Amino acid sequence: MNHMFSSFLIKYAEIGIKGKNRYLFEDMLVKQIVIALKRCEGEFLVHKTKGRIYVECQSEYDYDETVEALKTVFGVTGICPVVHVEDEGFEKLSEVIVDYMDKVYPDKNRTFKVFSRRARKNYPMDSVELSAALGGVILNAFPEMKVDVHQPEIALNVEIREKIYIYSIVIPGPGGMPVGTAGRAMLLLSGGIDSPVAGYMIAKRGVVLEATYFHAPPYTSERAKEKVVDLARKISRYTGPIRLHVVNFTDIQLYIYEKCPHEELTIIMRRYMMRIAEQIAKDNQCLGLVTGESIGQVASQTLYSLASTNEVCELPVYRPLIGFDKQDIVDIAERIDTYETSILPYEDCCTIFVAKHPVTKPNQKVIRIHERNLEEQIDMLVQKALSTTEVIEIDPNE
Ligand code: ATP
Ligand code: MG
Repeated sequence: MNHMFSSFLIKYAEIGIKGKNRYLFEDMLVKQIVIALKRCEGEFLVHKTKGRIYVECQSEYDYDETVEALKTVFGVTGICPVVHVEDEGFEKLSEVIVDYMDKVYPDKNRTFKVFSRRARKNYPMDSVELSAALGGVILNAFPEMKVDVHQPEIALNVEIREKIYIYSIVIPGPGGMPVGTAGRAMLLLSGGIDSPVAGYMIAKRGVVLEATYFHAPPYTSERAKEKVVDLARKISRYTGPIRLHVVNFTDIQLYIYEKCPHEELTIIMRRYMMRIAEQIAKDNQCLGLVTGESIGQVASQTLYSLASTNEVCELPVYRPLIGFDKQDIVDIAERIDTYETSILPYEDCCTIFVAKHPVTKPNQKVIRIHERNLEEQIDMLVQKALSTTEVIEIDPNE
């Protein structure tokens, strides 16, 4: 089947996207398709014609690899592999159609309907005649096949343009909006299961991502950091390149450990993570923060705790997984191929200083009072963490 298709018709949803925004959406979609195809063998021309996007394959290419890449482009709802033929008369077209049906549908026990369209009006038959004639040709060649005009299993599209385009397969795309159509946000990316999924979901709405990871050497290892880099690379296949800011959090954690009640450690630590991530976000034109939090999953994610980590930020904090059960999150992680990496057993900076009985109902006033114990050095430590932040450019095509 590999070399039968010479292009792909890209389907995308346009609901609610009108006027100027529609061009923005389409142009960004074309751009993101071009970027995704860079990791595939072969040469492709991506273009927009009359409200449609085509990927023309201009050399040998790997069908599976190309489809996989197209499936990572947000905004794409369907990928239709297309066979092109020159217009050499009805006889020739009939042969091609029979050959197409034979190859694409080895099992002939199916219902079908032919949908013809004439973009070129000088074609000798109109679309109704052409559909009926081709339907007859197919029935003749494959008596087991049946026509169903209401709910055909196979919708065979035949479009008469300069050339003739034939397609019937629709491979589902990821949906969403093309990345680059909705601003930029800062993802707090840990090595866990949730935050990569949260980043995927925000990017799916068209948002460009940056990411911040807090590590605590020597308590967290180089391998734990590599795991986060790997996760960033995995989601970058969908989100495009990600700038990953790696913050050394050790001194801040040790200082909190020394000065604050241990059952409040996690919450105070989380508050400093939010503050630092927000500063990096603002320095990089991000309009919001993104976390993988989900209500009640752990002590630091009760509504009390979420309120407490929320109050230190001015930027909006987006939590796309807030109402998800763990299994729902795991399902997405498996689908986007982050799960196996996320469950590798490296230590996380949140778990090393964790108390036996962390507070689940932190009292804001009490937390604020205890944070005053940090007054002497915390600003200096935060500045130091910011100024020593390492930046890693994550490129999906590496
Ligand atoms: P995850 O699976 O994403 O690690 P989690 O269930 O372990 O989440 P927490 O440890 O409470 O939950 O973290 C909540 C959120 O805080 C994470 O989803 C992530 O967005 C952020 N976060 C936690 N630890 C880190 C870290 N070391 N670096 C960056 N962000 C972090
Ligand atoms: Mg975690």
